[in-house]
Amino acid sequence: MARYVDHLVSIGVRLVALDFDATIIDLHTGGAWMESAKDLSKHVRSSLVELMKAVLERKADGIYLCVVTHSPQTDLIRQVLRNKIARGHNDVVIKGDDKTWDRISGIPTGGKQQHIEAVVRDLKKKYGVSIAPYEVVLIDDDYINVTIALSYDMKGIIYEKEESIEEIFNLTRGTDAT
Ligand SMILES: [Mg+2]
Repeated sequence: MARYVDHLVSIGVRLVALDFDATIIDLHTGGAWMESAKDLSKHVRSSLVELMKAVLERKADGIYLCVVTHSPQTDLIRQVLRNKIARGHNDVVIKGDDKTWDRISGIPTGGKQQHIEAVVRDLKKKYGVSIAPYEVVLIDDDYINVTIALSYDMKGIIYEKEESIEEIFNLTRGTDAT
């Protein structure tokens, strides 16, 4: 996993944006999970935990991690991340449809573009960093979200299945030319 993050850093990725439902976790909550965060934590994919930890460990290299989701249950997602990655979870920016941030004019409303832009603005405010679209990689099980990200010069990976995380290295290498 560290090798994978090395690769991301080497191709200039500075923001790893992860979808939550059916990507970080192995089911879709529909944004309406009624059970505990502890129960939902059991559905977190271990490979994604490894990936998140590996990215967080590279903070000094200027690579950031965020969760972009249409779920309004961002407090629940925070608890799940706290359970699974513990140290460093506060460094993960979470943007969901929780009405805590306003729609950003001039940014497409499709896919996760609004969420990603909101994260980029947060990071600029907090760390003074400017992250360009080509420095963002979106990892999402929804090919439409990924396609939209690609059309706005971001990198994207369709997360289709558990083992695909091992294939990401090759998939991402395919975007080098962009
Ligand atoms: Mg999803």
